[in-house]
Amino acid sequence: MVADCTTLWNDCLQIIRESVGEENYNTWFQPIVPLQIQNDVLTVQVPSQFFYEWLEDNYVPVLRKAITKVLGPGGRLEYSVVVDSGSPMSPPVTVNYPNGTGVKRQSLNNQVADGDYSPFTFKALNPQTVNSRLNPNYTFDNFVEGDCNRLARSAGLAVAKKPGTTSFNPLMLYGGVGVGKTHLVQAIGNEIKANMPEKIVLYVDQNDFTTQFLNALQNHKLQEFQNFYLQVDLLILDDVQFLAGREKTQEMFFHIFNQLHQSGKQIIMTSDCPPRDMKGFQERLLSRFKWGLTADLQEPDFETKLAIIHRKMQADGISIPTEVAEYLAYSVDTNLRDMEGVLNSLIFHATLLKREIDLELAREVLKNIIKEIQADVSVDFIQKTVADYFKVDVEAMKGKAKKREIVIPRQVAMYFCKRYTQLTLALIGENFGGRDHSTVIHALESVEDMMKTDAHFKSSVEELGRKLKLRMN
Ligand code: ADP
Ligand code: MG
Repeated sequence: MVADCTTLWNDCLQIIRESVGEENYNTWFQPIVPLQIQNDVLTVQVPSQFFYEWLEDNYVPVLRKAITKVLGPGGRLEYSVVVDSGSPMSPPVTVNYPNGTGVKRQSLNNQVADGDYSPFTFKALNPQTVNSRLNPNYTFDNFVEGDCNRLARSAGLAVAKKPGTTSFNPLMLYGGVGVGKTHLVQAIGNEIKANMPEKIVLYVDQNDFTTQFLNALQNHKLQEFQNFYLQVDLLILDDVQFLAGREKTQEMFFHIFNQLHQSGKQIIMTSDCPPRDMKGFQERLLSRFKWGLTADLQEPDFETKLAIIHRKMQADGISIPTEVAEYLAYSVDTNLRDMEGVLNSLIFHATLLKREIDLELAREVLKNIIKEIQADVSVDFIQKTVADYFKVDVEAMKGKAKKREIVIPRQVAMYFCKRYTQLTLALIGENFGGRDHSTVIHALESVEDMMKTDAHFKSSVEELGRKLKLRMN
């Protein structure tokens, strides 16, 4: 059945693609997911209410043409609109609509079950019913604290306690992919909603904001758009970097920002880089981004990753052996979003396929999810791991220094290069600042000697060995 509706929808897509052009096709049709076909009614899922309205306003003729061609004259299209995107643990909430029946959007808006999140049907927002578009699974409770996010997290907590009244306004959080920006800003929103039910909280990603804005522009509803946003007590704008180069959208955001800020409302933004590095932004907007507090989130360190893994598995009631958790914390070094994917897949295997979570399964899952994972341990990786372990600078370790604190890590790193790589002694020496093979032999001997005489040293080397081995396939 699933294959059927997918095939039918793919046939429709071909026709649609020819009529609407590549860009529109990518924006408005690719995100659509076919769900089922029943009695000539094809049901598709669209990501949002806005998305649905946009299709209805702009693409009914094209859709009708495609549906008629593929399903015959009796064919119909129905939408399932995601009004809350849910999470891996809670499925999306959807509302279904018939299509192309002449039902006007305005009346459909009134049917929206989840509050009045629509800038185009302006009415006073009710904090009790407004759809804040927050994912309830993102909380402070399950946001693991580490060195990588400490400042951002405590700033977030401060803002959550006193929105709009701290000097952290706006709060601008920045960092790379998957470092927890969205999680953290949503946690702030959830906390405020829980403790201050009278506040209107709104989370929008730049995509929502931009698309709504363009729609407002086209329909001469800019005033309504602005009025809608001005009612909000806490505005969270995620991934603001995407407003780069969008002059008009920035202009609108600038006005909303100023008015909210002046009336003591809290603004929170996230971005992939600090304001000083943001390109394609009006200077006056950038200067406002810097008014409050800018805090970064960094790639999580090993311990934080480990804690995140345990927290997530615990939440799902699944126990994961320490060695598997450590293996994942080491191996998934791209970002936490990939980690999330790996963990979900493990949970899937464990719960549905009743497989035991062990290293073998973890490796299997990882191979499928993260293609670029390295098959063996590289010299670089050994050097870095050993240097980190002994808390010395990796360049110093490879360099000329003769201090004991540096020499010992260097010898240990050489020892592991011999054990875990195929390199010759000469090549190992080459990788440590051009030393010759006799130096490497000497290093291997002293490490073995020290392991015999110093139990503490021995256990350190063994621990390191385990860490490195976890990384190998
Ligand atoms: P970003 O928005 O920075 O790209 P996300 O907030 O989407 O990153 O985080 C990616 C995934 O990692 C999410 O599933 C999130 O819950 C998880 N995550 C990130 N940081 C943490 C943390 N400190 N504690 C727990 N989970 C985290
Ligand atoms: Mg994000």
